[in-house]
Amino acid sequence: MTLFDSPAFEGHEGVHAFHDAATGLKCLIAVHSTALGPAAGGCRMWAYPTAEAALEDALRLSRAMSYKNAIAGIDLGGGKAVIIGDSRTQKTPALFEAFGRAVEDLCGRYWAAEDVGVSPADLIHARRFSRHVAGLEGHPAASGDPSPVTADGVFRGIELCVRRALGRKLDGVTVAIQGVGHVGGLLAERLHRAGAKLIVTDVHAQAVDEVARRTGAKVVAPGAIFDAEAEVFAPCALGGAVSAETLPRLRAKVIAGGANNQLADPEIGRAVFARGIVYAPDFVINGGGIINVAGEIRALEREEGFDPAWVGDKVAMLMRTLEQVLDRSQAEARPAHEIAIEMARARIEAARRV
Ligand code: NAD
Repeated sequence: MTLFDSPAFEGHEGVHAFHDAATGLKCLIAVHSTALGPAAGGCRMWAYPTAEAALEDALRLSRAMSYKNAIAGIDLGGGKAVIIGDSRTQKTPALFEAFGRAVEDLCGRYWAAEDVGVSPADLIHARRFSRHVAGLEGHPAASGDPSPVTADGVFRGIELCVRRALGRKLDGVTVAIQGVGHVGGLLAERLHRAGAKLIVTDVHAQAVDEVARRTGAKVVAPGAIFDAEAEVFAPCALGGAVSAETLPRLRAKVIAGGANNQLADPEIGRAVFARGIVYAPDFVINGGGIINVAGEIRALEREEGFDPAWVGDKVAMLMRTLEQVLDRSQAEARPAHEIAIEMARARIEAARRV
């Protein structure tokens, strides 16, 4: 497979590969669209088995960022960086400095932030070489780790979906969470405080044990989460959690979580809808984090301090958008993700015409 043949290639404006021999950096930065503004999206560090898998992820994730930023009503395009490597063993300050130089090579067409395997502490090193790095701590415009805002939006989105699908509050509802890292871990705590019962899994044993200790969650093996007796399935790990293999096993009436690219392919979204499951499109429900990052970019560009109220208003608007998407899905008898993609594309196309 080459770049232009990839099923994940969809008119991307640019895909950039960077290598730094001294630090071992191997990184791809995909810019899907800059129609609404400079592309923005997290940097993921993952031990991809092949360069092809990394390319596929960068293409899919950057396209999802275009949709996410568009539907969140922020003036940023879609982009994503992937660093090929194991974040638990291969991270060094020098590697992230080299990543910062790569970001700077794009002259502001791409703003980087955190994603899986990358934290604000890593990005500080990148920031030394590029001002186009956000989601940082320790300066007046800084917005910090976006994960708490993402988890807050996902929690509110789950509440909304449960109300629609089950006519209930979260108290006593069972939620199965796949992946209890930054977002999944915080989500588990919020759900626990709201009285939900939890079933959790993670490939990282320590993470899952800590969450179980704090929340009383039942722990299951990674492969068993799809068979969990739960009303809600919350994918909070990597992409593709809902597939032709896993969907028939799910008992949930709601699929709503923080992960990007939850549907293995668009067909599966139609199958989810046909089964009567309320699905919160991933790039809508998990938009809180990028809104927080956008708050930092906005503050930097205006040379102002970070304004949490601006972020709060945008997240509240995003929750209303999620409700609109679900209303339309019901009224038009069409899958929610198709409606959300249409809405996002319409905003991008309108900006392109201007
Ligand atoms: P993270 O790295 O902190 O957590 C991901 C967790 O998933 C890790 O603990 C990992 O061990 C686990 N995991 C990976 N594969 C798994 C599998 N097959 N089964 C079970 N567990 C598995 O990352 P995060 O920041 O919490 O992000 C989680 C997801 O949410 C990602 O898809 C990310 O792109 C998306 N997301 C995150 C943010 C954010 O603000 N952090 C914003 C939007 C979307």
